[in-house]
Amino acid sequence: MVRQLSFLEFQAWFPDEDACIRLLLDRRWPDGFSCPKCGGRSGDLLKSRAYTYECRGCGRQTSATAGTIMHRTKLPLRVWFWAAHLMATHSNGMSARQLAGQMGIAYSSAWLLEQKLRRAMVNPNRDLLEGVVEVDQTEMPFRANDDPDTPLKTGKIIVIGAVEVRDRTTGKAQKPKAFGAKYLDTLSGRCRLAVISSNEAVHIHSFIRANIAPGSTLVTDGHASYPGVDGYRHDPRVVGNMAAHIPLKWIHRVFALLKRWGLGTYHGFRPEHIDTYLNEFAFRYNRRFYRHVSFEAVLGIATDHAPLSYWDVTGRDNPRKGRAVIRRNPQKRRTVDKAGDG
Ligand SMILES: [Zn+2]
Repeated sequence: MVRQLSFLEFQAWFPDEDACIRLLLDRRWPDGFSCPKCGGRSGDLLKSRAYTYECRGCGRQTSATAGTIMHRTKLPLRVWFWAAHLMATHSNGMSARQLAGQMGIAYSSAWLLEQKLRRAMVNPNRDLLEGVVEVDQTEMPFRANDDPDTPLKTGKIIVIGAVEVRDRTTGKAQKPKAFGAKYLDTLSGRCRLAVISSNEAVHIHSFIRANIAPGSTLVTDGHASYPGVDGYRHDPRVVGNMAAHIPLKWIHRVFALLKRWGLGTYHGFRPEHIDTYLNEFAFRYNRRFYRHVSFEAVLGIATDHAPLSYWDVTGRDNPRKGRAVIRRNPQKRRTVDKAGDG
């Protein structure tokens, strides 16, 4: 895991609005200002309109926040940056209540801010899971109202999840084996989560089709709703007396982390917005080795060629060197790679 920045370190990098604007400008115009209308290369930052350049050639005004989720915001950029940083990199994210307290803003502003950030956490072009994929369902306790002290009701929300199995040695997709063979020495790859209204086959099959590439090997328990999904190789495991976490190790790990997060950070999810929370969880889980990238992705400022920046300088890179991103050759850097597509 990449160590996350402390609040003090974050403050040192983004001490004021100007520092945030510099990062935005860096990302939008890595080679210096370029007017989208006339192509002119000289412009001036306006004093009268925040984050906006005026072209010296044609007078066109272009905002550095255009096309990002911060466009036309009334909140300071530092609030956005810190919230995005926490949600992208803090292993537990942060509830709106905690964020409101930390930033000194109203709960309603913090809640809306987090909803916007969560919506930026799903990459519409994300690839399907592939290879050997564990699939299982679980039941989540939920909270009927906003009062954290009300006891949780249980058993009403069914969450289905899928997670890729990777080979520990190569870090790549696990090669499928004969039915029933054990997968040892594995790592967990990307995950996907969704709420389903029941355990019927129709819901389970549509989740599988929406999230897992055809031809993949599905490792499941013996639940009656899995068989019959066409186009996949189904390898059910009879769990029986064996603890269920043995054949479905990674998806059970994901569910355990998800539940701990829901209880710890939110004192239980409420059913209304649970999908956005599941996406937030999957986003962070899938990018746990790429956290500096996820910060920029959440803000909507990730670009294909990033200049030397704060993240470059801090050097908080992927511990699995060479597999991701990064730094030494900024021109070739791809910001969102396959392992981090949410
Ligand atoms: Zn111009």
